[in-house]
Amino acid sequence: MGGRSTRAATRRRLRSLASTRERAERAAVLMAVRAVWRFVTYAISHVAGAGVTWEIHCATYGCGESHIADKDDECAEWAMRHTAANAGHDLFRRTCSDHARVAALA
Ligand SMILES: [Zn+2]
Repeated sequence: MGGRSTRAATRRRLRSLASTRERAERAAVLMAVRAVWRFVTYAISHVAGAGVTWEIHCATYGCGESHIADKDDECAEWAMRHTAANAGHDLFRRTCSDHARVAALA
């Protein structure tokens, strides 16, 4: 009789521990979800010291020549010389790229 009630008490205790563990796991999951839904504002801006890069590519089929410089004037001069040296190479693709940094705002 006494042994039977001890077994029942042990089962109740084990069930209680299991539910405690489940509650702890549910709390951990909720904490993880809370971390995912944290709202942070970010801003992106040009990195002043990094400058810009100009690229110009000859768009004539089969040519593939290009020039890279830190100033647009240098690319323009290269393109004019390229056209003067290669008749019909008068279409170019220009790109200007900069370095940008993303930072979290407080
Ligand atoms: Zn060309």
